[in-house]
Amino acid sequence: MTSESSTQTRQQNVDAAEIDKFSQLAHKWWDKESEFKPLHDINPLRLQFIDDHASLAGKKVLDVGCGGGILTEALAGRSASATGIDMAKKSLKIAQLHALEEKVGNVHYRLVSVEDLAAETPAQYDVVTCMEMLEHVPDPASIVRACAHLAKPGGWLFFSTINRNPKSYLQAVVAAEYLLQLMPRGTHDYQKFITPAELGRMCRQAGLDWAASSGLTYNPLSRQYHLCTNLDVNYMIACRKPTAA
Ligand code: SAH
Repeated sequence: MTSESSTQTRQQNVDAAEIDKFSQLAHKWWDKESEFKPLHDINPLRLQFIDDHASLAGKKVLDVGCGGGILTEALAGRSASATGIDMAKKSLKIAQLHALEEKVGNVHYRLVSVEDLAAETPAQYDVVTCMEMLEHVPDPASIVRACAHLAKPGGWLFFSTINRNPKSYLQAVVAAEYLLQLMPRGTHDYQKFITPAELGRMCRQAGLDWAASSGLTYNPLSRQYHLCTNLDVNYMIACRKPTAA
């Protein structure tokens, strides 16, 4: 593939309508009662899952599709040096402002695609996180590959997304968007949900070893999320890039 055509391929792996959707909501990223409430609610759970595996203190971390920085700032709060990247300029502005307000020094944000960053600075990060983003891009396998390139040998990678089956359709689309109205209608496209088997294949093809997984389940009565073993709806995985032989 010529460098020109690979650039073209990279540029195409962004769904402009998705970026637009998040940009329009950007001012609400840090409003814990807004459409982003579910991300605030799951943040301590996913942060702990990441820290338990990757021991964040002192690590160089990249957060791909960081949005307003909900996870990125929390990673920095565990004494990691955190960089967040996203393709929505407005979200990055909000993330930067929030970090300034909170006086979080060890966090940086950049408008760059993960594929371009992987070409620019491969094998630089101890930890790469990419949460709740794969279901919003045209080619998730390309994102997984780029994340794998960005991790150092022996580095940890974390992905989260939504499984694709009738139960996840009912819970993540019908209940979350229509009945409970936890997020706006049209937030998720069922066709883009990714099964753990598909995500596992993408990771394997990117040369990563699957290390662990956890489901995240919502209890509408207590209105709380907790970790669970079943990956039927929301789930996250931990992978490792093998150390060089
Ligand atoms: N990871 C954050 C935000 C999830 S929302 C969190 O879990 O808290 C999905 C984010 O992915 C949005 O900020 C959106 O702008 C971003 N996104 C969508 N497509 C992208 C792409 N191709 N490259 C980078 N970011 C993208």
